[in-house]
Amino acid sequence: MSDADAAAVPTLSVEGLRTGLRCPRQYEFAHVHELEGEATVGDDRVDLLRTALCDALRSADADREALESVAADRLGALWADHDERFHSATQRRHERRVLEATAAAYVEAVGIDHAAGIERLEAEAAGGELVGPGLPLSSTLELSEPSLETDAVRIDAAVDYVTGDGSSLVGVRFVPTVAPLGLLRYRSDWEGDVAALFTDHFDPESAAFDPAPVGALLETAVVLDGLRGLRDRLGLGDRTCRYVQIPLADRSGTAVNWVRDDVETSLEIVDLTDGYVDHHTFGMTHEHRNETVDDRLAAVATELVSGPYDPTARWAAIEDHACPTCEYTVCCQDYIAREVGFDG
Ligand code: SF4
Repeated sequence: MSDADAAAVPTLSVEGLRTGLRCPRQYEFAHVHELEGEATVGDDRVDLLRTALCDALRSADADREALESVAADRLGALWADHDERFHSATQRRHERRVLEATAAAYVEAVGIDHAAGIERLEAEAAGGELVGPGLPLSSTLELSEPSLETDAVRIDAAVDYVTGDGSSLVGVRFVPTVAPLGLLRYRSDWEGDVAALFTDHFDPESAAFDPAPVGALLETAVVLDGLRGLRDRLGLGDRTCRYVQIPLADRSGTAVNWVRDDVETSLEIVDLTDGYVDHHTFGMTHEHRNETVDDRLAAVATELVSGPYDPTARWAAIEDHACPTCEYTVCCQDYIAREVGFDG
């Protein structure tokens, strides 16, 4: 593809995919008209920690003391500039301790191994950045129904760093919480209820509506394809690619000892790869792929590129699950029409 052709290819983001799965009209408001909602406070804190941990991975040796020291120093500097209203100085101190405990839990759980994996990759890679935050990846795929103007779409994603694990190239993304993954947190096989969850979501005869885990599977397809492209550009051989999410604002694993003024936390790290890969496609391609998900990704991307963003085909599910938390109810003609119809 020439540079001119590449520039003409429309782009989507994985966040746009997730929004479009919840409601196509919401996608239109958020990503076509760019009426985006505000970032939450939790997202801001995750960004602080994401930056501190990436800085530690980039500059520290792969040992606990060095990683913890650099992460703590960076977190302290970023926190000093963090502008957030707290009820009291005690609450502000507590929130910082939660972040520090999360950073320590990260180093303990995977940080040392991942830093060592980054060092090994850097020794082998032909240049290129392996640590973000927000290391861009993309996947370009053919639209399932080529429009008049284009037959391809580029989908952008990001990981926070890439590390090596044996014969695998692992993309890692820090997320606020893994709760939206639902079933995917507990399954390591596509066959069975993950496949059923995915296909049921798109089945017009089914009432199932699971945009968050379905979106995570589409995101996994994009990230793994983006990692394959990065692997090839950096000359990293034929490593298989994996995608891991690490939650940084999930309080379910946090314990506070108010007497000792101490915070401890643990992290639930989720590798999304095995729940995505189907053995049949893997056998055909020897790559971590899933034909069912990849085909549906092309179909969803086609709908989001071409519009018309009409939510009526899934209205019952959208009204029950997406409208109650939607930021666009006051300007949404579909929602207002239903409200007026109900009142009348
Ligand atoms: S109010 Fe409901 S129908 Fe309208 S954009 Fe939001 S989720 Fe979609």
